Amino acid sequence: MRVNGCFACDYTGRMPDAVKSSRLCRQPGKPLPPTRRAPRIEAPWSLRASRGVEVLELAPLRDLAWLVHGFSTRSGGASVLASGQRVLNLGFTEWDKPEAVRRNRGTFQSALGADDLTLVPLSQFHSAVVRSVPPVSDRPSKGDASATDKAGFLLAVQTADCVPILLVDPETRAVAAIHAGWRGTLARIAEKTVGQMRMRFGSNPKDLIAAMGPSIGACCYEVGTELVTMFTSRFADAEEWFDELRTGDEPNPLQWLNMRPPGHQPPPKNVRLDLPKANRAQLLAAGLGEKNLYSSGLCTSCHTELFFSYRREAGQSGRLLAAVGRKRQRR
Ligand SMILES: [Zn+2]
Repeated sequence: MRVNGCFACDYTGRMPDAVKSSRLCRQPGKPLPPTRRAPRIEAPWSLRASRGVEVLELAPLRDLAWLVHGFSTRSGGASVLASGQRVLNLGFTEWDKPEAVRRNRGTFQSALGADDLTLVPLSQFHSAVVRSVPPVSDRPSKGDASATDKAGFLLAVQTADCVPILLVDPETRAVAAIHAGWRGTLARIAEKTVGQMRMRFGSNPKDLIAAMGPSIGACCYEVGTELVTMFTSRFADAEEWFDELRTGDEPNPLQWLNMRPPGHQPPPKNVRLDLPKANRAQLLAAGLGEKNLYSSGLCTSCHTELFFSYRREAGQSGRLLAAVGRKRQRR
Protein backbone atom coordinates (compact mmCIF):
# COMPACT_ATOMS: atom_id res chain seq x y z
CA MET A 1 0.00 0.00 0.00
CA ARG A 2 1.33 3.35 -1.01
CA VAL A 3 0.57 5.98 1.59
CA ASN A 4 2.68 8.86 0.37
CA GLY A 5 0.98 10.45 -2.54
CA CYS A 6 -1.88 9.75 -4.85
CA PHE A 7 -1.22 7.77 -7.95
CA ALA A 8 -3.38 10.13 -9.94
CA CYS A 9 -1.52 13.19 -11.25
CA ASP A 10 1.76 14.10 -9.59
CA TYR A 11 0.78 14.58 -5.98
CA THR A 12 3.55 13.34 -3.72
CA GLY A 13 2.43 14.65 -0.34
CA ARG A 14 1.06 12.57 2.48
CA MET A 15 -2.38 11.10 1.95
CA PRO A 16 -5.05 11.89 4.56
CA ASP A 17 -5.56 8.95 6.95
CA ALA A 18 -9.12 8.52 5.79
CA VAL A 19 -8.09 7.61 2.26
CA LYS A 20 -5.11 5.40 2.96
CA SER A 21 -7.29 2.35 2.63
CA SER A 22 -9.09 3.54 -0.45
CA ARG A 23 -8.16 2.49 -3.94
CA LEU A 24 -6.84 5.95 -4.64
CA CYS A 25 -3.59 5.05 -2.97
CA ARG A 26 -3.41 1.42 -4.02
CA GLN A 27 -0.10 0.44 -5.55
CA PRO A 28 -0.63 0.46 -9.28
CA GLY A 29 -0.98 -3.06 -10.58
CA LYS A 30 -0.88 -4.45 -14.06
CA PRO A 31 -2.09 -1.98 -16.65
CA LEU A 32 -5.46 -2.68 -18.19
CA PRO A 33 -5.40 -3.41 -21.92
CA PRO A 34 -5.52 -0.29 -24.08
CA THR A 35 -8.90 0.72 -25.44
CA ARG A 36 -9.50 0.80 -29.18
CA ARG A 37 -12.98 2.19 -29.54
CA ALA A 38 -12.71 5.79 -30.73
CA PRO A 39 -15.21 8.05 -28.97
CA ARG A 40 -17.73 10.12 -30.84
CA ILE A 41 -16.84 13.76 -30.57
CA GLU A 42 -20.05 15.72 -30.74
CA ALA A 43 -20.68 19.40 -31.43
CA PRO A 44 -19.93 21.91 -30.05
CA TRP A 45 -16.74 19.93 -29.40
CA SER A 46 -14.39 19.00 -32.24
CA LEU A 47 -10.92 17.64 -32.91
CA ARG A 48 -8.60 19.75 -34.99
CA ALA A 49 -5.42 18.27 -36.52
CA SER A 50 -2.36 20.51 -36.58
CA ARG A 51 1.44 19.95 -36.46
CA GLY A 52 0.96 16.18 -36.34
CA VAL A 53 -1.22 16.26 -33.23
CA GLU A 54 -4.93 16.64 -32.51
CA VAL A 55 -6.43 19.30 -30.29
CA LEU A 56 -9.90 19.13 -28.74
CA GLU A 57 -11.71 22.45 -29.04
CA LEU A 58 -15.02 23.98 -28.01
CA ALA A 59 -16.85 26.03 -30.69
CA PRO A 60 -18.08 28.89 -28.44
CA LEU A 61 -14.46 29.48 -27.38
CA ARG A 62 -13.00 29.02 -30.86
CA ASP A 63 -15.36 31.77 -32.05
CA LEU A 64 -13.68 34.34 -29.81
CA ALA A 65 -11.02 35.97 -32.02
CA TRP A 66 -8.93 37.22 -29.08
CA LEU A 67 -8.68 33.80 -27.42
CA VAL A 68 -6.60 30.65 -27.81
CA HIS A 69 -7.64 27.45 -26.09
CA GLY A 70 -7.46 23.69 -26.41
CA PHE A 71 -7.22 20.29 -24.74
CA SER A 72 -4.37 18.04 -25.84
CA THR A 73 -4.79 14.41 -26.91
CA ARG A 74 -2.49 11.43 -26.90
CA SER A 75 -1.02 10.75 -30.31
CA GLY A 76 1.90 12.33 -32.11
CA GLY A 77 4.71 13.97 -30.22
CA ALA A 78 8.29 13.07 -29.42
CA SER A 79 7.79 10.76 -26.43
CA VAL A 80 8.08 7.02 -26.97
CA LEU A 81 6.28 4.53 -24.73
CA ALA A 82 7.64 1.07 -23.92
CA SER A 83 5.25 -0.26 -26.58
CA GLY A 84 6.99 1.92 -29.18
CA GLN A 85 3.99 4.22 -29.56
CA ARG A 86 4.82 7.90 -30.05
CA VAL A 87 2.79 10.09 -27.76
CA LEU A 88 2.33 13.74 -26.87
CA ASN A 89 3.27 13.56 -23.21
CA LEU A 90 3.08 17.08 -21.79
CA GLY A 91 4.14 16.41 -18.19
CA PHE A 92 7.59 15.69 -16.75
CA THR A 93 7.07 12.05 -15.82
CA GLU A 94 9.70 9.58 -14.59
CA TRP A 95 9.62 7.45 -17.73
CA ASP A 96 10.05 10.29 -20.23
CA LYS A 97 12.97 12.48 -21.25
CA PRO A 98 12.62 16.15 -20.28
CA GLU A 99 13.75 17.20 -23.79
CA ALA A 100 10.88 15.20 -25.31
CA VAL A 101 8.36 16.86 -22.97
CA ARG A 102 9.71 20.32 -23.79
CA ARG A 103 9.48 19.53 -27.50
CA ASN A 104 5.94 18.24 -27.07
CA ARG A 105 4.92 21.37 -25.23
CA GLY A 106 6.31 23.43 -28.11
CA THR A 107 4.36 21.31 -30.60
CA PHE A 108 1.13 21.69 -28.62
CA GLN A 109 1.63 25.43 -28.30
CA SER A 110 2.18 25.72 -32.08
CA ALA A 111 -0.89 23.58 -32.74
CA LEU A 112 -2.90 26.04 -30.65
CA GLY A 113 -1.47 28.97 -32.62
CA ALA A 114 0.06 30.29 -29.41
CA ASP A 115 3.78 30.31 -30.20
CA ASP A 116 4.18 33.89 -29.04
CA LEU A 117 2.46 33.35 -25.68
CA THR A 118 4.31 32.56 -22.46
CA LEU A 119 3.34 29.08 -21.27
CA VAL A 120 2.39 29.18 -17.58
CA PRO A 121 2.21 25.66 -16.12
CA LEU A 122 1.63 25.05 -12.40
CA SER A 123 3.25 22.83 -9.83
CA GLN A 124 0.02 21.06 -8.93
CA PHE A 125 -0.64 19.59 -5.53
CA HIS A 126 -4.40 18.95 -5.35
CA SER A 127 -5.13 22.15 -3.48
CA ALA A 128 -7.60 25.01 -3.88
CA VAL A 129 -4.79 27.52 -4.49
CA VAL A 130 -5.57 29.89 -7.36
CA ARG A 131 -2.60 31.80 -8.82
CA SER A 132 -2.94 35.21 -10.41
CA VAL A 133 -0.79 35.72 -13.52
CA PRO A 134 1.51 37.66 -13.81
CA PRO A 135 3.92 37.28 -12.04
CA VAL A 136 5.60 34.39 -13.84
CA SER A 137 8.93 32.91 -12.84
CA ASP A 138 11.19 30.15 -14.17
CA ARG A 139 9.84 27.68 -11.65
CA PRO A 140 6.11 26.95 -11.88
CA SER A 141 4.11 28.35 -8.96
CA LYS A 142 2.48 25.89 -6.61
CA GLY A 143 -1.24 25.83 -7.23
CA ASP A 144 -4.09 24.10 -9.01
CA ALA A 145 -5.67 26.97 -10.87
CA SER A 146 -4.42 30.13 -12.52
CA ALA A 147 -6.21 33.20 -13.78
CA THR A 148 -5.36 36.35 -15.73
CA ASP A 149 -6.92 39.23 -17.61
CA LYS A 150 -3.64 40.10 -19.34
CA ALA A 151 -2.72 39.19 -22.90
CA GLY A 152 0.34 37.08 -23.72
CA PHE A 153 0.03 34.22 -21.21
CA LEU A 154 -1.01 30.66 -21.95
CA LEU A 155 -2.39 29.25 -18.70
CA ALA A 156 -2.11 25.47 -18.52
CA VAL A 157 -3.08 22.62 -16.20
CA GLN A 158 -1.96 19.04 -16.60
CA THR A 159 -4.19 16.04 -16.03
CA ALA A 160 -4.44 12.31 -16.62
CA ASP A 161 -7.92 11.55 -15.16
CA CYS A 162 -8.61 14.69 -13.09
CA VAL A 163 -11.00 17.28 -14.52
CA PRO A 164 -9.47 20.14 -16.52
CA ILE A 165 -11.71 23.22 -16.61
CA LEU A 166 -11.18 26.36 -18.68
CA LEU A 167 -13.11 29.51 -17.74
CA VAL A 168 -13.49 32.41 -20.16
CA ASP A 169 -15.12 35.78 -19.61
CA PRO A 170 -16.03 37.27 -23.02
CA GLU A 171 -16.80 40.65 -21.35
CA THR A 172 -13.65 41.36 -19.32
CA ARG A 173 -11.52 38.92 -21.37
CA ALA A 174 -10.30 37.27 -18.18
CA VAL A 175 -9.45 33.56 -18.40
CA ALA A 176 -8.66 30.75 -15.96
CA ALA A 177 -7.46 27.14 -16.04
CA ILE A 178 -8.39 24.70 -13.26
CA HIS A 179 -7.15 21.24 -12.27
CA ALA A 180 -9.85 19.47 -10.24
CA GLY A 181 -9.16 16.02 -8.84
CA TRP A 182 -11.24 14.76 -5.96
CA ARG A 183 -9.25 16.69 -3.38
CA GLY A 184 -9.43 19.94 -5.32
CA THR A 185 -13.13 19.35 -5.89
CA LEU A 186 -13.65 18.73 -2.18
CA ALA A 187 -11.76 21.97 -1.49
CA ARG A 188 -14.07 23.79 -3.97
CA ILE A 189 -11.39 24.88 -6.39
CA ALA A 190 -13.86 25.61 -9.21
CA GLU A 191 -15.99 27.85 -6.99
CA LYS A 192 -12.93 29.58 -5.61
CA THR A 193 -11.57 30.31 -9.07
CA VAL A 194 -14.87 31.94 -10.06
CA GLY A 195 -14.65 33.95 -6.82
CA GLN A 196 -11.13 35.11 -7.71
CA MET A 197 -12.28 36.15 -11.18
CA ARG A 198 -15.07 38.24 -9.63
CA MET A 199 -12.74 39.84 -7.12
CA ARG A 200 -9.70 40.47 -9.29
CA PHE A 201 -11.20 41.12 -12.71
CA GLY A 202 -14.76 42.16 -11.98
CA SER A 203 -16.18 39.15 -13.82
CA ASN A 204 -19.89 38.47 -13.59
CA PRO A 205 -20.33 34.68 -13.23
CA LYS A 206 -23.33 34.84 -15.57
CA ASP A 207 -20.97 35.87 -18.39
CA LEU A 208 -18.46 33.07 -17.86
CA ILE A 209 -18.14 30.16 -20.29
CA ALA A 210 -16.84 26.91 -18.77
CA ALA A 211 -15.26 24.13 -20.83
CA MET A 212 -14.80 20.88 -18.91
CA GLY A 213 -12.40 18.63 -20.79
CA PRO A 214 -11.77 14.88 -20.83
CA SER A 215 -11.48 13.26 -17.40
CA ILE A 216 -12.22 9.96 -15.75
CA GLY A 217 -15.98 9.52 -15.81
CA ALA A 218 -18.52 8.14 -13.37
CA CYS A 219 -18.28 4.92 -15.44
CA CYS A 220 -14.72 4.26 -14.24
CA TYR A 221 -13.88 6.33 -11.17
CA GLU A 222 -14.07 3.91 -8.30
CA VAL A 223 -13.29 5.41 -4.88
CA GLY A 224 -13.48 4.31 -1.26
CA THR A 225 -16.70 4.99 0.66
CA GLU A 226 -14.74 7.31 2.95
CA LEU A 227 -15.08 9.89 0.22
CA VAL A 228 -18.88 9.76 0.44
CA THR A 229 -18.71 10.99 4.03
CA MET A 230 -16.18 13.66 3.15
CA PHE A 231 -18.27 15.03 0.30
CA THR A 232 -21.72 14.72 1.90
CA SER A 233 -20.48 16.57 4.98
CA ARG A 234 -19.51 19.53 2.81
CA PHE A 235 -22.00 19.59 -0.08
CA ALA A 236 -25.78 19.40 0.24
CA ASP A 237 -26.24 17.61 -3.09
CA ALA A 238 -23.17 15.33 -2.95
CA GLU A 239 -25.24 12.12 -2.72
CA GLU A 240 -26.14 12.63 -6.37
CA TRP A 241 -22.48 12.43 -7.38
CA PHE A 242 -21.97 8.87 -6.15
CA ASP A 243 -23.12 5.62 -7.59
CA GLU A 244 -22.97 2.35 -5.74
CA LEU A 245 -21.08 -0.49 -7.36
CA ARG A 246 -23.95 -2.89 -7.97
CA THR A 247 -24.04 -6.63 -7.82
CA GLY A 248 -27.70 -6.68 -8.76
CA ASP A 249 -29.30 -7.70 -5.46
CA GLU A 250 -28.80 -4.77 -3.16
CA PRO A 251 -32.06 -3.82 -1.47
CA ASN A 252 -31.15 -0.21 -0.85
CA PRO A 253 -29.58 2.15 -3.40
CA LEU A 254 -28.03 4.28 -0.67
CA GLN A 255 -26.65 1.56 1.55
CA TRP A 256 -23.49 3.35 2.42
CA LEU A 257 -25.45 6.25 3.89
CA ASN A 258 -28.28 4.31 5.44
CA MET A 259 -26.91 1.13 6.98
CA ARG A 260 -29.27 -1.84 7.15
CA PRO A 261 -29.55 -4.08 10.24
CA PRO A 262 -27.31 -7.19 10.46
CA GLY A 263 -28.27 -9.92 8.04
CA HIS A 264 -28.83 -7.54 5.21
CA GLN A 265 -26.38 -6.87 2.40
CA PRO A 266 -23.15 -5.38 3.79
CA PRO A 267 -22.33 -1.89 2.61
CA PRO A 268 -20.04 -1.78 -0.42
CA LYS A 269 -16.35 -0.97 0.03
CA ASN A 270 -16.21 1.17 -3.05
CA VAL A 271 -18.46 3.50 -4.95
CA ARG A 272 -18.14 5.49 -8.13
CA LEU A 273 -17.71 9.23 -8.07
CA ASP A 274 -18.87 11.51 -10.89
CA LEU A 275 -16.21 14.23 -10.70
CA PRO A 276 -17.44 16.21 -13.74
CA LYS A 277 -20.93 16.34 -12.20
CA ALA A 278 -19.54 17.54 -8.87
CA ASN A 279 -17.63 20.34 -10.60
CA ARG A 280 -20.60 21.25 -12.74
CA ALA A 281 -22.64 21.64 -9.54
CA GLN A 282 -19.95 23.90 -8.08
CA LEU A 283 -19.88 26.11 -11.16
CA LEU A 284 -23.67 26.44 -11.08
CA ALA A 285 -23.51 27.27 -7.37
CA ALA A 286 -20.91 29.93 -8.17
CA GLY A 287 -23.43 31.62 -10.47
CA LEU A 288 -22.61 30.34 -13.95
CA GLY A 289 -25.51 29.87 -16.33
CA GLU A 290 -26.42 26.33 -17.31
CA LYS A 291 -26.22 27.23 -21.01
CA ASN A 292 -22.60 28.34 -20.58
CA LEU A 293 -21.42 25.03 -19.10
CA TYR A 294 -19.94 22.59 -21.57
CA SER A 295 -18.76 19.15 -20.53
CA SER A 296 -16.95 17.00 -23.09
CA GLY A 297 -18.47 13.83 -21.62
CA LEU A 298 -15.28 12.03 -22.66
CA CYS A 299 -13.83 9.49 -20.23
CA THR A 300 -10.03 9.23 -20.20
CA SER A 301 -10.14 5.68 -18.82
CA CYS A 302 -12.63 4.46 -21.45
CA HIS A 303 -10.59 6.04 -24.25
CA THR A 304 -6.88 5.54 -23.81
CA GLU A 305 -6.56 5.41 -27.60
CA LEU A 306 -7.19 9.18 -27.52
CA PHE A 307 -6.23 10.31 -24.00
CA PHE A 308 -3.98 9.35 -21.09
CA SER A 309 -5.45 7.68 -18.03
CA TYR A 310 -3.23 7.33 -14.99
CA ARG A 311 -5.51 4.73 -13.49
CA ARG A 312 -6.08 2.60 -16.52
CA GLU A 313 -2.44 2.70 -17.55
CA ALA A 314 -1.37 1.97 -13.97
CA GLY A 315 0.88 4.98 -13.62
CA GLN A 316 2.89 4.53 -16.83
CA SER A 317 0.94 7.19 -18.55
CA GLY A 318 1.57 10.59 -20.06
CA ARG A 319 -0.09 13.87 -19.12
CA LEU A 320 -2.60 15.95 -21.04
CA LEU A 321 -2.57 19.75 -21.01
CA ALA A 322 -5.56 22.04 -21.07
CA ALA A 323 -4.61 25.58 -22.01
CA VAL A 324 -6.22 28.99 -22.42
CA GLY A 325 -4.91 32.49 -23.04
CA ARG A 326 -5.47 35.93 -24.52
CA LYS A 327 -3.64 36.56 -27.77
CA ARG A 328 -1.11 39.37 -27.81
CA GLN A 329 -2.49 42.58 -29.21
CA ARG A 330 -1.25 43.33 -32.69
CA ARG A 331 0.10 46.77 -33.27
ZN1 LIG B 1 -15.04 5.39 -18.30
